[in-house]
Amino acid sequence: MFDKFREECGVVAIFGNPEAANVAYLSLYALQHRGQESCGISTSNGQEVHTHKSMGHVADVFTKAALQQLPGDLAIGHTRYSTAGDTALLNAQPFAVSCNKGRIAVAHNGNITNALELRRDLERRGAIFQANSDTEVVMHLVAHSEERTLAGALRDALLQLEGAFSLVFLAEDRIIVARDPHGFRPLAMGQMELQDGKISTVFASETCAFDLIDAVYLNDVEPGEMVIVGPEGVMRERYAPKQPLSHCAFEHVYFSRPDSIVFGRSVQESREALGCLLAREAPADADIVVPVPDSGVAAALGYSHESGLPYCQALIRNHYVGRTFIEPSQAIRDFGVKLKLNPIRHLLEGKRVVLVDDSVVRGTTSRKIVRMVRNAGAREVHLRISCPPTVSPCFYGVDTPTKNELIAANNSIEEICKFVEADSVGYLSLNGLSQAIKDENDFCYACYTGDYPTDFVHIQDQLAGQASSPHSAHKKNTAVSFH
Ligand code: AMP
Repeated sequence: MFDKFREECGVVAIFGNPEAANVAYLSLYALQHRGQESCGISTSNGQEVHTHKSMGHVADVFTKAALQQLPGDLAIGHTRYSTAGDTALLNAQPFAVSCNKGRIAVAHNGNITNALELRRDLERRGAIFQANSDTEVVMHLVAHSEERTLAGALRDALLQLEGAFSLVFLAEDRIIVARDPHGFRPLAMGQMELQDGKISTVFASETCAFDLIDAVYLNDVEPGEMVIVGPEGVMRERYAPKQPLSHCAFEHVYFSRPDSIVFGRSVQESREALGCLLAREAPADADIVVPVPDSGVAAALGYSHESGLPYCQALIRNHYVGRTFIEPSQAIRDFGVKLKLNPIRHLLEGKRVVLVDDSVVRGTTSRKIVRMVRNAGAREVHLRISCPPTVSPCFYGVDTPTKNELIAANNSIEEICKFVEADSVGYLSLNGLSQAIKDENDFCYACYTGDYPTDFVHIQDQLAGQASSPHSAHKKNTAVSFH
């Protein structure tokens, strides 16, 4: 029923800004990479909550006319991606309802791992669900709470949730945001100075949104913290006891934009360090370092710097590839990847190439790119990946396929090398990853180890028929050659 663990999202919230809808729109624009399938904004003018949401990209969904229908000084926004089968507009966010706590709207990034259990319990108590997303469960928990205030009901609801959530709520006169006690997904807080000198408080999944709206990044909403911004000012409170932290390492490896500060660290800095350590751990006898754009660019820079091999942008990405294109009836080999990438033959011809990307998931795209580089004249292709092998699905809000489909869960590095048709394949070690992101024991590496930091996931894992003992599929992360 819940497909939600395959979902990736971005959220924003704006308080005390006469142009709240426009500012939320711009912030979402900067978070478009976190989800390209649907997006939405809810605003409040003190009396009513207005919502506009639709399938599609932020720039297409929010026309001038649509934004004009969103009055008020408060706004929350959401951008969402989920896999096929769960794409309905019904699941687009924010969810807005009228309930015994007033008119409220919510948007969510992450995945609530006990949502199914909570939903079954709520249905037994008469709750009716419209969508199949776990975010709706939060709304029902708020409505069912016996606490009289919205903040009290939210506290009540949040304490029943397990898993990953960075949530933004909109009520008639206030914004409330919260982060799960493990801090899986990011949520940053900032301030915008308005023309009349007043201060508008803003929240976003990533700080690159603040740069676009000229807001100053203050700090992160703490794991287990709830921030209430209302007429009385800003109130920060810890709603849950401290828990071990589990920031998502993949935010630094791939998901966040390099110009963001995530979990207090520059993503670009992390990625360059990943590439630098990768060069030390998995060197290659080669002529040039070529990134897979855009995901491999920063790591390739680090690799080039450390190895002394020249960095060479020999694959060009078409940034305008949409979801709709007409496929030719005549078969063209590797058509999908050619739409997105094109090699520069004159840079590759006769060269021994280190090809750097952030991750291999199924291996099918990587194989097409390796072929593309070889067909453009490269003499050797050495694939280097700036994180450890992905061996387990994420249940905390990153789109990963099932274990059966993860190439590294079922194959040795030699087999992966053979499948992607590379001359050698090298991954970064877990130790290298943790060094590069400056981990102080506060990151989640479940996708690389199979060790999930919350208990409930093991049950979901078994239900999905993917059970395996932790570490069982974890491969040794050294570079090997295959000819
Ligand atoms: P494949 O070789 O088919 O496994 O695809 C690997 C490519 O998928 C890499 O270039 C990654 O940057 C990209 N990738 C990895 N994880 C994700 C994700 N969660 N969503 C979208 N793309 C991803």
